[in-house]
Amino acid sequence: MFDLIVIGSGIAGLYAAITAAPRSRVALLTKGELDDGCSRFAQGGFAAAVGSDDSVAQHYEDTIAAGRGLCNPEAVRVLVEEGPDRVRQLIEWGVAFDTQDGELLLAREAAHSTARILHARGDATGLEIETMLIRKLRACDVSVFEHTVVTRLIVDDTGRCVGVETIPDTGGALRSLAAGAVILATGGASRLWRNTTNPNSATGDGVALAYTAGAQVSGMEFIQFHPTALALEGAPRFLISEAVRGEGALVVNASGRRFLYDSDPRGELAGRDVVARAVWEELQNTSASCVYLDCSPLAGRAAIRFPAIARTCRQYDIDIEHDRIPIAPAAHYTIGGIATDVRGATSVDRLYACGEVASSGVHGANRLASNSLLESAVFAHRAANAALETIGEAPPPRLGSTATTRVPARGALNVAPWWTQLQDVMWTGAGVVRDAAGLREAAVECEVIAATCADDSLSSTRLRAAATTASLVCQAALAREESRGAHFRSDFPNSSDQWHGDFVMHYDRGGRLDCHV
Ligand SMILES: Cc1cc2nc3c(=O)[nH]c(=O)nc-3n(C[C@H](O)[C@H](O)[C@H](O)COP(=O)(O)OP(=O)(O)OC[C@H]3O[C@@H](n4cnc5c(N)ncnc54)[C@H](O)[C@@H]3O)c2cc1C
Repeated sequence: MFDLIVIGSGIAGLYAAITAAPRSRVALLTKGELDDGCSRFAQGGFAAAVGSDDSVAQHYEDTIAAGRGLCNPEAVRVLVEEGPDRVRQLIEWGVAFDTQDGELLLAREAAHSTARILHARGDATGLEIETMLIRKLRACDVSVFEHTVVTRLIVDDTGRCVGVETIPDTGGALRSLAAGAVILATGGASRLWRNTTNPNSATGDGVALAYTAGAQVSGMEFIQFHPTALALEGAPRFLISEAVRGEGALVVNASGRRFLYDSDPRGELAGRDVVARAVWEELQNTSASCVYLDCSPLAGRAAIRFPAIARTCRQYDIDIEHDRIPIAPAAHYTIGGIATDVRGATSVDRLYACGEVASSGVHGANRLASNSLLESAVFAHRAANAALETIGEAPPPRLGSTATTRVPARGALNVAPWWTQLQDVMWTGAGVVRDAAGLREAAVECEVIAATCADDSLSSTRLRAAATTASLVCQAALAREESRGAHFRSDFPNSSDQWHGDFVMHYDRGGRLDCHV
C-alpha cells in the first residue's frame, strides 16, 4: 500500500514523485520505460522570467494574450511567479541549462515579448531535464513500476479515488494498487492524429481514465498544431523547433515567397495557431505537400545552436545551413485536459493531475511556446504538496484481493487498422481547420471504434481509451461554435463574445455535456 501513486514518468510525474518522496511512500507507474513520453523530446526550452530585462508581469501579459481570453488569471499568476523557483530547483537537482560567461542563455520564441527561454544542450532541453530528474528519482525512496499500464482509476462509494488497476504492457495479471491519493501525469493525446510530433505514448489515456472515473475535463477542443514539423514522405514528423524561427529562419512557399505576412504582420514570429493555419491554407490553396523553412539567415550558427535538428535533418540529406527544410503542420500539444484548480486537484476527491494531461487554465485557447515544461514543473510541485496534505487528513484505504484476473495482450480483433482509422478521421475531421460535418463524422467514428473494440484484451482496452478521448475532443469542438486560438471552425470563422470569458466545459459521468460561460 502507498500513500501516493503517481502515473507517468515525464517531467510532471518525475517532479511530483521527487517532491513527495521525502515525506511519503510513493509509487511511480509508467506504461513504458522511465524516459518514454514527450518530455525528453522537448527542444526549444523552458520559459521563465529570470532575465534581467524581463519580469513576471511581462510573462503574465504574454501568456494571457496568447490564451485569447480563456486563461485562468490566478493559474497564470501562479505559473509565472513560481517559474523562477522551479528553475532554481532544477539547477540544484543537476539540470545544466546553457550559459555564457556564467549567465543563463535566454532565447526568444514566437509571441514572447522578450528572450526568456532557458535551453540545454542547444536544442535538447527536454532530454537534459528528463535525464537529470530520472537520476534524482533513482536516489529517492520511490517504488518504480515500468511497463505497467494503468487501465482504471478505483473510486470508492464516497467518491474518493483510492487506487488504480494496472496490467503489464505485455498482458498478464490485472492488479489493484491502493493509495491515499493518485496523481495523473500521463501527458497529452496528440498521437490520436495521423500527423504528429509526439511519440507513441501520447494517446490521451489520462483524460479517458479521469473522465470514466467521473472527473471534469475542459478545453478538449484546443489542440495545438505545430506549424513546422518535418514533412518528408515516410519520415516521422520530427519537430523543427519554434526557436529556429525565433533565431531568424524564414517560412517560404515553393516559389520562395514569405506568405506568412499575408495573414499577420508579425510574420514568422506570429503565434503558433496563426502560423499553423497560414501554412495549412497555403497547402490547401496550392495542393502542395509542404512549405519550407529557410535557415540561410542563420548560416554559420544553425548547426551549433540546433545540433539535434541538424543531426536529424542530415539523416534525410538536408543540410540546414544550406538546404530548405520541408515542413507542414502536425498535432503537437493537448491544451485542454482534466480540469484542475491551482493545487492540481481534480473534481474527484484525492485525484490530482498535472502536466500536459491537466487543464490548469494557464494556456486558455492557445499555449505560449515553452510554457508547458514550466507548467509541468510548477503544477507537479503543487499537486504533490496538495496530495500529501489531503493524505494527512485520513489514512490510505485498503483494497481487496489483487492479481486475480489475467488479461491477454491481444484479443481476436486486430486493432492496428482501427488505430489508423482513428488517426485518419481525427486528422481530417478534427484537424487544423474543422467544421460541423467533419467533426460529426469523426465523433461517430470514435463511437464505432469504441464499440468494435469491445473485448477485454489490453490492446482493445487501450484503443477504447483513445477513442474516448478523441470523442471528447470532437464533442467539445462541435459545441464551441466559434474560432479562437488553436480551435478554428471554417463554419464559424470569427470569435464570439458568447464564448468569451470564464469558460467552463465539462462532462458528467453519464456523458452529458455541460458547458457554460
Ligand atoms: C517534439 C516535442 C517538442 C517539444 N518542445 C517543447 C519545448 O521546447 N518546451 C515546452 O515547454 N514544451 C515542449 N513540448 C511539450 C512538452 O514536452 C510536454 O508538454 C511535456 O513534456 C509533458 O510532460 P508530461 O510529464 O505531462 O508528459 P509526458 O512527458 O508525455 O509523460 C507522460 C508519461 O505518462 C505515461 N503514461 C501515459 N499513459 C499511461 C498509462 N495509461 N499508464 C501508465 N503510464 C502512462 C507515459 O508512458 C509517460 O511516461 C514538446 C513536445 C514535443 C512532442
